[in-house]
Amino acid sequence: MPAYTLPDLTYDYSALEPYISGRIMELHHSKHHNAYVTGANTAIEQLEEARATGNLSAVNQLEKNLAFNLGGHINHTALWANMSPDAGGEPHGEIADAITEHFGSFAAFKAQFTAVGAGVQGSGWAILAWDSVGERLVIVQLYDHQGNLTLGMVPIVLLDCWEHAYYLDKLNVRADYIAAWWNLVNWEDANERLARAKTQLNGLIIPA
Ligand code: MN
Repeated sequence: MPAYTLPDLTYDYSALEPYISGRIMELHHSKHHNAYVTGANTAIEQLEEARATGNLSAVNQLEKNLAFNLGGHINHTALWANMSPDAGGEPHGEIADAITEHFGSFAAFKAQFTAVGAGVQGSGWAILAWDSVGERLVIVQLYDHQGNLTLGMVPIVLLDCWEHAYYLDKLNVRADYIAAWWNLVNWEDANERLARAKTQLNGLIIPA
């Protein structure tokens, strides 16, 4: 059994139109995400083989491959659930209260998150994350699929800023893609992730 499998989407590829085209969703899920699943499983198998043979000469590259591909798998799995055809608008519930508490207002949060996404250099992600050490929401930039992050935080809302996420629809204008994406944010999913993060992660790394 492979360690990782490509999850099905809970909506059709075309369900996020007109904000994200069905063609992009199909390529993004069935090609890009699938390649990360395959890559992560390959890295796991090659590390098993390296241990079995005692030949660990390629271990640095294998660890890099595992981090990159497993990161891609994790990020995209959360990304699909973070979006919904019947979503967008302002948050509600616990996530709305937490955003106001930690960013001042939803408008201030939205402005920072938009700037963070637009500013990602090269390939990467903008992420609203729960920091289980500070017990607060933070916005972070993730380089590629796995860089520039500290341990201790989990994604609540992710925005894929790789060109493959928008180039077919928006060409080089990432700002238009981000503006469209706000109409798809699934705040119900964010609320569920925040509740799990608070109850299951706080105190895990640095006990209170
Ligand atoms: Mn992607």
